[in-house]
Amino acid sequence: MRLAILSRNASLYSTRRLKEAAEARDHEVRVVDYLRCVIDITSHRPQMHYGGSELAPLDAVIPRIGATHTFYGTAVVRQFEMMGVYPTVESHAISRSRDKLRSLQLLAAEGVGLPVTSFAHSTKDIDGLISLVGGAPVVIKLLEGTQGMGVVLAETKKAAESVIGAFRQLDANILVQEFIKESRGTDIRAFVVGNKVVAAMERSAAPGEFRSNVHRGGETRKAKLTPEERSIAKRAARILGLNVAGVDLMRSNHGPVVLEVNSSPGLEGIEGATGIDVASKVIEFIETHAEVKATTRARKKA
Ligand code: ADP
Repeated sequence: MRLAILSRNASLYSTRRLKEAAEARDHEVRVVDYLRCVIDITSHRPQMHYGGSELAPLDAVIPRIGATHTFYGTAVVRQFEMMGVYPTVESHAISRSRDKLRSLQLLAAEGVGLPVTSFAHSTKDIDGLISLVGGAPVVIKLLEGTQGMGVVLAETKKAAESVIGAFRQLDANILVQEFIKESRGTDIRAFVVGNKVVAAMERSAAPGEFRSNVHRGGETRKAKLTPEERSIAKRAARILGLNVAGVDLMRSNHGPVVLEVNSSPGLEGIEGATGIDVASKVIEFIETHAEVKATTRARKKA
């Protein structure tokens, strides 16, 4: 197959591993910087230009769209969709997963366990916002944050009021969440490909820190998930329409809760912690699904 990895940097671990895995399985693969793609919107023959000429035909693309480039990145993925190229994750699913509030609402509507969460525009009723999630301590999150930035633990009601007030003063959108204390700074990343959890790791926060993000000094190790955790991870990915997803879970007193679903999950942490060749699982998924799609298309035409 002819594949492209939509990534800004060919030397990133995840990009390199996906390329290696595709080459090892005899596919033609190139790394395409999506910010350098020029979208040619023509009625009958949508095209993509790259480096001054038309991009050679592709069977599938693997989007690795950075959080700061969601708008242009998803437009590029959408263009490939119009051109009949199979994407491992569709543009609308990427946009959906990038909006934390929207994702939580969709998951809640399907009955997926979540930390008790509240959201408000006005600061008139901060008290109400805090008591809705059971009172302090609470976790306050910037809607646009990633890698643990903009995630604050407010231990007292006073602290929570100040932080919420300050964020709102800056016109930032925030979520207020119950603090899952019983997880003791540990969360779980389940890597979902298709309808399978192909690898799972536990991340533990550094001493004195409650956020377990690797970028915040968190440590990783292989995790064994319960059947319930596996099933929730797969459901969360399916609800958001993601064939490849990193689902973050916490073990709470009221069962497993989903924190977040990531549409461009990194491979370095999970492959390092589990020793599983996750990149090849993604390529294998494309092999079955992109081809199935091609056959369906051919069948429809016949
Ligand atoms: P980001 O997208 O910035 O990584 P997350 O919502 O995943 O933000 O939060 C970052 C980290 O903070 C999580 O990995 C987890 O360790 C911790 N955390 C987030 N929400 C809660 C919560 N409600 N209770 C306890 N810890 C939390």
